[in-house]
Amino acid sequence: MTLIDSAATVGTTAVPVGGPSLPQQRTLVTAIPGPKSQELLARKAQAVSASVGSTIPVFTVAAGGGVLVDVDGNSLIDLGSGIAVTGVGNSAPRVVAAVAAQLEQFTHTCFTVAPYDSYVEVAEALNRLTPGDHAKRSALFNSGAEAVENAVKIARHYTGKQAVVVFDHAYHGRTNLTMALTAKNQPYKNGFGPFAPEVYRVPTSYPLRDGGLSGAEAAKLSITQIEKQIGAGNLAAVMIEPIQGEGGFIVPAEGFLPAIVDWCRANDVVFIADEVQTGFARTGTMFASEQFGIVPDLVVTAKGIAGGLPLSAVTGRAEIMDAPQIGGLGGTYGGNPLACAAALATIETYEEDGLVERAAEIGAIVREVFGAAQATDARIAEVRGLGAMMAIELVDAATGEPDASLTGRVAAATHAAGVIVLTCGTYGNVIRFLPPLAISDALLREGLQVVLDSLAAN
Ligand SMILES: *Cc1c(COP(=O)(O)O)cnc(C)c1O
Repeated sequence: MTLIDSAATVGTTAVPVGGPSLPQQRTLVTAIPGPKSQELLARKAQAVSASVGSTIPVFTVAAGGGVLVDVDGNSLIDLGSGIAVTGVGNSAPRVVAAVAAQLEQFTHTCFTVAPYDSYVEVAEALNRLTPGDHAKRSALFNSGAEAVENAVKIARHYTGKQAVVVFDHAYHGRTNLTMALTAKNQPYKNGFGPFAPEVYRVPTSYPLRDGGLSGAEAAKLSITQIEKQIGAGNLAAVMIEPIQGEGGFIVPAEGFLPAIVDWCRANDVVFIADEVQTGFARTGTMFASEQFGIVPDLVVTAKGIAGGLPLSAVTGRAEIMDAPQIGGLGGTYGGNPLACAAALATIETYEEDGLVERAAEIGAIVREVFGAAQATDARIAEVRGLGAMMAIELVDAATGEPDASLTGRVAAATHAAGVIVLTCGTYGNVIRFLPPLAISDALLREGLQVVLDSLAAN
């Protein structure tokens, strides 16, 4: 069944069907943005809050594989996956079929009113796939931030304690509690306070910028601060992204995460891994925690979970997840049947199409391309990441200082040439690569070459 008629139109333009059958090529037929996108941008300015920004000024009509087609007929290479969401590719065939079939059965009952089996099946899949072979339970929500908030609720209820520790450069969302958990003021927090209490921030491991501390040394600094400033007796949870995402794709030194987990275990503190960005095959394992040798008590997932439909989850030790009172967790839309159908199809796609292995291959290509460039360009301070979650950190070659201006110029030039890349980092000087795992080698290499060309021209 085809949901979208290939003869559909936007204005007067014929619109292609999305998914992997889209021609996998970069084609620019207008400037970026083209005239139709410019018209829509003008309407956006009149209708949409100016506070809702967009990275690239083109309006999408179809996407799939490694490309995104805009309203003017430009075909752009997608190296962002809508922020690590469409790992299986946009409108992936299994996802389209599963959601279409579910649409014709029922669209909503509210799982906390009248349950359905796909929710249970998603929970079973999460319990199977997340690290550790202990008894697990899951609960489903809508957004990453909502799941993060629920993980904190659960940890507080289970421990009977209140304080939560998060780290420098952390990003956990934009709701009130998650703004408190997030480190960066601009644009996430500025003017939006007061923030939730009992949230404490400690140093993380950032090998490029912490003087090259070992994982054990960095963990000692964090743990000393926790013990001196908060005290384990007040601490419900420590939450961290195994690789910090918005903060700059920061990969902690070896041993840092295990030392933090060991301390949590010894002190009755719930260790929460926020795998919203690192999860679901992205880093070359189903979850990044696996590569750091840690087993979190709770794992928070979202983004890559459902092929683009809104879904998130908290998965963890049965005794922790079962602690809050009946009715204490839930929500109107959490685990919506369309999103659950999409998640099951998405997980099947990761597993059946070998996308975990594919993520590792993609990472090797990005590392090869930028590793070679780094040898001749001192502005690339570091090429880092795991699997298909890779980044380059850009600095002023003379001073070694973060160069956000260069980063912005490179991203803008890359966009103008028809390649979608995202930036990140506390200092705004990181270009991150989160291609769909469905992208071809040829398209990936072409996209990366455009970034290199943009760097050379700036
Ligand atoms: C994106 C993100 C979130 C928030 O997810 P939303 O779905 O945008 O609420 C939380 N944690 C991490 C690590 C993220 O990357």
